[in-house]
Amino acid sequence: MLITRADIGGEDLLDLRLSEGRVYEVGRDLIPEPGEWEIDAEGATVIPGLHDHHIHLMALAAADDSVACGPPDVHDSEQLSRALALWEGDGKWIRGVGYHDSVAGELNRDRLDELYDRRPIRIQHRSGAMWIVNSLGAQALGLDGDDPPADIERDDNGRATGRLFRMDHWLRDRWEKNQSVPNLKKLSLRLASYGVTGVTDATPTNGQAELSIFEEALAKGELLQHLMLMGSGQLPLPSHPLALRGAFKIMLDDVNLPAFESLNWQIERAHMAERPVAIHCVTRASLLLALGVFMETHTIPGDRIEHSGVTPPEALEIIKKLSITVVTQPHFIHERGDAYLKDVDPEDQPWLYRCRAFLEAGVPLGGGTDAPFGHPDPWRAMRAAVDRTSVSGQCLGPDETLTPEQALGLFTSSPETPGTPAPAIRLGMRADLLLLDRPWSEARQELSSTCLRATIRAGEVIWARSAL
Ligand SMILES: [Zn+2]
Repeated sequence: MLITRADIGGEDLLDLRLSEGRVYEVGRDLIPEPGEWEIDAEGATVIPGLHDHHIHLMALAAADDSVACGPPDVHDSEQLSRALALWEGDGKWIRGVGYHDSVAGELNRDRLDELYDRRPIRIQHRSGAMWIVNSLGAQALGLDGDDPPADIERDDNGRATGRLFRMDHWLRDRWEKNQSVPNLKKLSLRLASYGVTGVTDATPTNGQAELSIFEEALAKGELLQHLMLMGSGQLPLPSHPLALRGAFKIMLDDVNLPAFESLNWQIERAHMAERPVAIHCVTRASLLLALGVFMETHTIPGDRIEHSGVTPPEALEIIKKLSITVVTQPHFIHERGDAYLKDVDPEDQPWLYRCRAFLEAGVPLGGGTDAPFGHPDPWRAMRAAVDRTSVSGQCLGPDETLTPEQALGLFTSSPETPGTPAPAIRLGMRADLLLLDRPWSEARQELSSTCLRATIRAGEVIWARSAL
């Protein structure tokens, strides 16, 4: 493939030959070989493909196949009832997500039956702590049968209310039997349309079963992105050439933080197995705990803090000293900023999802969308890193803004070393590239996936806006 007249790293009208998955030649006025596919960039820029350093593919695919049951999609019981009735997904169950009590009050099976009773339905409360099923759902799960799980909620007559608290594990086993594997193909193409050529799946429960599903999707060409898989201690080494094993993922539950010794032991055990760790830290307390333990044990290359939602100056000092990588989600500032201003301790507000302070301290800073918990388009995260404004237009942490180039850099480093400088486009590099529809001097103003013309992974076009 020959891309002609491209703007590459500020130099315009360069030609780029891709062959065997790599950048084979860069120069001016390259002559197309017989039969070679030639794409005229018309002066538009070519940049490295994006790597989303923190995403949850299965959960995102499942969310794509679900009915949104809360604001901003649905506001009252009538809208909810209609959304459920109009749903045309496959499978026996309807799955709803994001329910908020402001829609139709507290839900139980009877209330849900009034809204929809033609198929079994399960709706997840926005808190993530509860699922609600209707009566057909209750029957399908055996809640009314002889052998229901012991501790489900019941009404005064001993009948199951359909409200299931913190039972995801139990539910997952039952549901998976009559559920198809999430549609990774559709999702993967959508990510390609944002310019994503690689992802790190940060799901802590990834193990052998998930690896098999992903490797099969890679082999079938349904999953188009390079994949780094974080996961549990049981996660084996992948065998597919597009897959890598990443860090051992540790979730810190803020309501129930582990003891210092127990976290220490988890980290040491992972390090002994030569695996770095990635610790989920959203609050000040969880970050200080993680850093305290890191100071006691030691760090190895690849150790990371996920989110670092609140990073006070004293924590930043330690992160710098221990050379830990941070993977952040700047778009939470946009998507959730208004709620943060209401709910987060004013003392912590200046330290929310910091960006510039990390770069100035020399801390490697990578970006991830955390989709489905954030929007999966990395360009929205870049935009938010530059603007730092909430949906209602309030600015959070004005000292933490990035330049468009720094924001792009959050998503262009390699999966093993998030936050290291993006590789310049050079001979021999793997041809994970994005062709935009305009020069970088214009694209940097926009910072949007609408500027994309084609996404190339290992020298192959995996997505194009229109025929090239
Ligand atoms: Zn996550």
